[in-house]
Amino acid sequence: MFIFIGYVPNTEFLKGLVNMNQWNEIIVDADMATNIPGVYAAGDSIVKRYRQVTTAVGDATIAALAASNYIHQLKTKELHETLTQ
Ligand SMILES: Cc1cc2nc3c(=O)[nH]c(=O)nc-3n(C[C@H](O)[C@H](O)[C@H](O)COP(=O)(O)OP(=O)(O)OC[C@H]3O[C@@H](n4cnc5c(N)ncnc54)[C@H](O)[C@@H]3O)c2cc1C
Repeated sequence: MFIFIGYVPNTEFLKGLVNMNQWNEIIVDADMATNIPGVYAAGDSIVKRYRQVTTAVGDATIAALAASNYIHQLKTKELHETLTQ
């Protein structure tokens, strides 16, 4: 038997950087993106309803794909700027 006593996300070091709620849970959109471009969060550290291994893995998959897409877009933009200079 587990007695649930609550939990505190270890996000103190991100205070003042990414937006959080009153419980220091990171606010993300559907892509797991924070308010800082290129910064993503997943799992128990974010604002969400169900905290399970399976939801954490799903969040992380989305965050990784979104981060990859973000980097790809940066590279494409950089290449476009180089070619049009
Ligand atoms: C007692 C208990 C029982 C549970 N039972 C179940 C269950 O049966 N089934 C289920 O699906 N879910 C269960 N859960 C929930 C599940 O464990 C979590 O939802 C899941 O582990 C969240 O994954 P996560 O990667 O977000 O966080 P975590 O698994 O907590 O991983 C975060 C990792 O980050 C590390 N870390 C923290 N701060 C830093 C830092 N500053 N720098 C570097 N590393 C850092 C931590 O040491 C940790 O290894 C249970 C949780 C608890 C507490």
